[in-house]
Order: sequence, then structure tokens, then C-alpha cells
Amino acid sequence: MSNLSNLRQLLLQLDNCNYKAYRDIKGSYNFPNFTLIIEHVQGDPFAAPSKIRVQISQSVAGFPPNLYNSQSREIALRDYLTRQFDAAAQESSSFRGSGKSGLITITNVGQEVLERTSALINQKTVEVRFLVGLPARGRRISGRQAAEMFCEDIPQIIDKSLLYQSLNQQELQQQVETIEDADWLRQQLAEQGLVAFIADGSILPRYSGVDSRPLLEAAVPFQCPPQLQVEFTCPNRGVITGMGIPAGVTLIVGGGYHGKSTLLRAIELGVYNHIPGDGRELVVTNPAAVKIRAEDGRSIAGVDISPFINQLPQSRPTSNFCSSNASGSTSQAANIIEALEAGAQLLLVDEDTAATNFMIRDRRMQQLIAKDKEPITPFIDKVRQLYTDYGVSTILVIGGSGDYFDVADTVIAMDNFQPTDVTSKAKEIAQQHRTERTSEGGKQFGKITPRIPLPESIDPSRGHRDIKLRVRDVDEVVFGTEEIDLGAVEQIVEPGQLRAIAEAIVYAKRQDINGKYTLPEILQQVMTDIETQGLDILTPFPQGDLVKFRRFELAAALNRLRTLKVLGN
Ligand code: ADP
Ligand code: MG
Repeated sequence: MSNLSNLRQLLLQLDNCNYKAYRDIKGSYNFPNFTLIIEHVQGDPFAAPSKIRVQISQSVAGFPPNLYNSQSREIALRDYLTRQFDAAAQESSSFRGSGKSGLITITNVGQEVLERTSALINQKTVEVRFLVGLPARGRRISGRQAAEMFCEDIPQIIDKSLLYQSLNQQELQQQVETIEDADWLRQQLAEQGLVAFIADGSILPRYSGVDSRPLLEAAVPFQCPPQLQVEFTCPNRGVITGMGIPAGVTLIVGGGYHGKSTLLRAIELGVYNHIPGDGRELVVTNPAAVKIRAEDGRSIAGVDISPFINQLPQSRPTSNFCSSNASGSTSQAANIIEALEAGAQLLLVDEDTAATNFMIRDRRMQQLIAKDKEPITPFIDKVRQLYTDYGVSTILVIGGSGDYFDVADTVIAMDNFQPTDVTSKAKEIAQQHRTERTSEGGKQFGKITPRIPLPESIDPSRGHRDIKLRVRDVDEVVFGTEEIDLGAVEQIVEPGQLRAIAEAIVYAKRQDINGKYTLPEILQQVMTDIETQGLDILTPFPQGDLVKFRRFELAAALNRLRTLKVLGN
């Protein structure tokens, strides 16, 4: 294997050559403290940056095994290393010529602690994967700059961010313990008959609509009402108290601007863990919770939305509903059925993003528009059946309709950002003022029939390329010649999740989508493969930008692929 001085020499020799000559540096190099692997070399200074891996022996890195000897701890430590590398790289990465020259960067992270392929650890090695913009003047190689980057900057970043002795050990310990506690808490939920827990003192509001860091100065810390208080003894933090939301149907009510949506958003993201200092470290939710909203314009492939919608004009079938441009209510119905098909156990709905006619149909409207002229059975008539027939709970933000009091188990009112339990008061009011509604939609929720996706309807190729995938932020995947719009799938938090989802669709097509397996079977297979063999199985060579995702978001992407066809349509 070559070493550090070989690489330096090579780079200096390449100075002023055509940019393409950089491909000569592909390979492995022994550095004093680590092995550097140049895996992929970019074709020009403006192209996607080059892919680099570094492996450090534990005899040098020196991480004590108790920082990674369980899955929770390992993921917490890997997340920490990614963040440390990111901070050190930002300090030393500098503009060094044309295009991306001089860039040193690692996958984008936010407030969530997620499993990522950017940093890996075991008893032998620490591995970090990152991107480097190989420096150029115009389209000529800047060999001296490149030598500086590889032989000085990168070793410095590594010394600063990936050796146990150079890290803030207390902070690292806190990260590992925080994540362990959160995972433990989430596991306790089901046993306690809860679907979510929000610890006292949590800070739920965010800095702004586009900045998910906590709002600090003006934030009112969360304080649980006595009726809903539960207590846990966490493995690290010890005794904590907070609000337990029981399984069943829960309403979050309250005046406008009193913090309802902020609470629901924290619950949505409680399927993930958060970094210390985020404010939501001890907000945990059933891992099978899915945010449901209206999403007009989306495509729908053969979904049985008949539990909600029947007898559409022009007698379009709803047990096998297809649309390339769904309405607010049909899209919301499809979002629910697809979530159930994928195994959701908790639905989260906010009136701000729901279709009104899907949510409610009051007495007066029932009188004016007869049932045989209204295809929609509103959610209010189905939400209890979801729980009694399928054990699926719902948490609903609803400030605008008291009709829901009849179907709720728990009613929480937000008042000046503080929750109170108003369940008995709401029930009293429901007794006094009857809605006089006729309930619609029969005695049972209805069947959920898993669909069978057809392989020929899923094609990642484009032009002469077999696979063309690109990701735009957390909103869009370019899949072959198609664009998949995921702007309304709110539980995707990092671009790396979308990247991995795109790769997972290709993987699923290769492995499991054969015109015989149902969608839930396919999801199960892919998720198990990732669980047992790691995210690296999704790509032909190791990548640093894959981030763990849930089966629900994988299903969401596939369901929004406009070419998707399922058996029988
Ligand atoms: P609602 O859904 O009840 O209309 P929101 O949840 O949208 O209210 O909150 C309204 C505003 O109040 C938002 O700007 C939000 O960031 C802020 N906010 C929410 N919770 C808190 C809190 N605990 N402390 C301070 N501000 C908060
Ligand atoms: Mg709101």
C-alpha cells in the first residue's frame, strides 16, 4: 500500500495537469494514524465531490467499549462522531479554486440522532466517510492545494474529531446516556398502555418554521396536568415525570396560537431520538406513528379507500382507486389506508393540514345533502372503529369541532402553551348538547387489503443509465425519469433518508418486487435485510450519505411514484 508521502508526491506531480488526471489518486494510503481510501474521484471541479473513507484503528482511536456496546449507544456514538467531524471540517474547509475546490464535508445532520453510514464503529476500527472537492484552477489540478488538504487538513480534522482523547468525554457520555434513556422510554410505552410521552420540562417550540433548533428564551417548558401524569425510572437519568397519552382516541383542543400544532409536531418526531439540548430528548412516540394529512394533487395506485369514500360521480370504483390528481379528501383517505397497509399503530392528524369535508359532516349538512349524494364518510365516524377493529390509535388536533367529543377517550386542552385535561368537561358538554348527527359508515371499519406492486411499473433507468437517482433536500426524489414529491411526508427529516429510500426502492425491485409479494411483505423484507446486514447492502460500494428510515416513509415514496401499478388495475 502507498503511504502519505507517496500521495503527497503524486499530488504535486499532478499539479497543473488536466483535472481528469486526478483519477490516478484512487486507492488506499497508509497515514501514521489511519488508512485513507479514495473511493471515487470526481470528473470535474463542478461535479459531485469525491468520496473518501478513513479507517482508524481502535488502538489509536481508543473508544471504550461501553460507549458502543448496545445498539442505542452505538448509534448515539456514531451520530456524535459525524457531528464532531462536521464541526472540525467546517473550520478547516476553505475555498480553494473553481467549483467545489477545497470543500470537506460530511452528510447533513439536524436535531435527530439517526443511524447513518457516515460513521461506523466496532472493536477494531472507527470508519468515517466524507466528501472532498478536489481543488482546481479552472480545469487544471491544483496539486499543492490538494497535498495540503490530504496531508495536513484531513489528518488534523481526524485528530480533532475522531480520537477519544481529543473529544469532550463528558458531553459524549451525556449523548450516549440520553439516547439510551429515550430508546428505553419508547419501549415502555406499549406496556403502560401509552402511545406517546412528553416529559415535564421539555421545550417543544422551534426557533422558526425553517430552523428546527429549539426556541430558547421565550419558550414555556412543558408541564403535565395531574390527571395524565406518569412516572418512569430511566436507566441513566433516573426518575422523570410527564404526560402519558393513552392508547385510543385523543383530541388536542384549545384556542388558536396556544401551541396545539407544536405539541403534535413534537409527537410526530418522537419516533426519532434527539440530541441533548434539543428540548425534545424525552418526547417519545410509538415507533409506528404516521402523520396523516390532505395532499391534493398526489397520485394514487389502486388503493381501497371504500371505508371512507363510496359512489363517486361517474361511478369510479373506490375499492381500487386510482388517480393522478387526487382531491383533498381522497388523498387523505389514501394516506390513511396506505399507512394502515404498512402497519401504522398511531395516526396523527392536524386540522391545519386536513380536509374539512373529510373530517366532519355536521347535522345541518347531513340534512341538506343526503347521504346518497355525499361519497365521503367523515373521519369522525371511522376513528373509533380504527381503534376497536384494528387497535389503531389516533391523536387529533381539532380546535374547530366539538362533535368529536363523542368519539374521544381523552381530551387535552392547550392553554397558553400548557396542557390541561378536559376530558370529563368535554364529556359533560357532549351529554348536554347532543350533536344530533346520524352516524354514517356502518358498524365496521372495513377490510384493508394489501396491494401487490408490479415490477415493470417501477423503473429507475434514464437514457443510457440503468439507475438514475437524485435527491432534493427532504422533498423530492428523482427516480429515473420520474420525480417523486415527498413534500407532504412530514416525518422525513434528513436528505440522507431520502437517498437511502431511493436506493431501497431499487433494492426492493431487484430482490422482492415480483408481482407476487404484497407491499407489506416487501417492506418487511427490505427492513429486515437492512436491520441484519446494514444500510450498505443498498449500494454497490460503501457510501457515506445513507440514513436510516422507517418502513412508512419507504412505502410513502413508492406510493407517490406516478408510474406505480398494482395487481388488478
Ligand atoms: P396552534 O396550533 O394552537 O394554533 P402553534 O402550535 O402553531 O399553535 O403555536 C403558535 C406559536 O406559538 C408558534 O409560533 C409556536 O412556535 C409558539 N409556541 C408553541 N409552543 C410554545 C411554548 N411552549 N412556548 C413558547 N412558544 C410556543
Ligand atoms: Mg395549529
